[in-house]
Amino acid sequence: MTKTTGGCLCGAVRYEADAAPDHASYCHCSMCRRATGAPVAAFARLPSAGFRIAKGEIKRYRSSDIAVRGFCAQCGSPLTFQYDAYPAYVAVAIGSLDRPEVAVPERHWNFDDRIPWLQLSDTLPRQGNVAAAKPKP
Ligand SMILES: [Zn+2]
Ligand SMILES: [Zn+2]
Repeated sequence: MTKTTGGCLCGAVRYEADAAPDHASYCHCSMCRRATGAPVAAFARLPSAGFRIAKGEIKRYRSSDIAVRGFCAQCGSPLTFQYDAYPAYVAVAIGSLDRPEVAVPERHWNFDDRIPWLQLSDTLPRQGNVAAAKPKP
């Protein structure tokens, strides 16, 4: 069985999953930027079933009314991202994976919100602005 493992910078938090990531993508939104401190975030999706915290504890922060982000309370490493509407999946920060090379991003989300100096030459699909595309309530 393919296992996925990862953890934070200080080693206090370790996670594992019984499956390999089935999807990975970049997100250029300002919330991911602040949450990761990086010009662009990259997340890999895993099934929630079979995902567990193997060591320590994830601190959770509700960053919006639709999602919760998990991180290490000791070193601050961003670790997880989970939409309330999709409890069957948990996304992990690709940089937190022990083998980040297995999670190959397939798409850019919120590409319109990218930092202008960020130059990318890949040919992946670019989703402009997800929030703007959603119908107003
Ligand atoms: Zn840590
Ligand atoms: Zn984002």
